Amino acid sequence: MKLPKKTNRYCPKCKKSTEQKISLVSSGHKRGTLTRGSISRAKKRHAMPGLGNKGKWGSKKAVKSWKRKSKTTTRKVLLYTCNDCKKSTQSESRRVSKILFE
Ligand SMILES: [Zn+2]
Repeated sequence: MKLPKKTNRYCPKCKKSTEQKISLVSSGHKRGTLTRGSISRAKKRHAMPGLGNKGKWGSKKAVKSWKRKSKTTTRKVLLYTCNDCKKSTQSESRRVSKILFE
C-alpha cells in the first residue's frame, strides 16, 4: 500500500483542514519487564538456557508455534500530525502487508 508523506486533512484542534504528516504508530521495542514469564524476569532468575533457542526464549518462537502461523498481514495504525498545532490523531487500524511512504 502506497501513501503520501503529507496530506490535507481536517484537524479537530484547529477546526479546519490543515497539512498533516503521516507516519505509522509503532509499539516500540520494549519487552514486558514485569509480566509473568518475561525474558527479563527469567534472566534475573538465571533461568535462561545457555546457547540456542530452546523454544521458549529467543527472537523466534518454538518451531511448532511459528509453523502454525497463518496470517500474512499485520494491523497498522496511521498517525496524522498537524503542522500548525503539532497535535496528532490516529486512524482506525486496518490490515495491510506493508506501507510505503513516497
Ligand atoms: Zn491542528
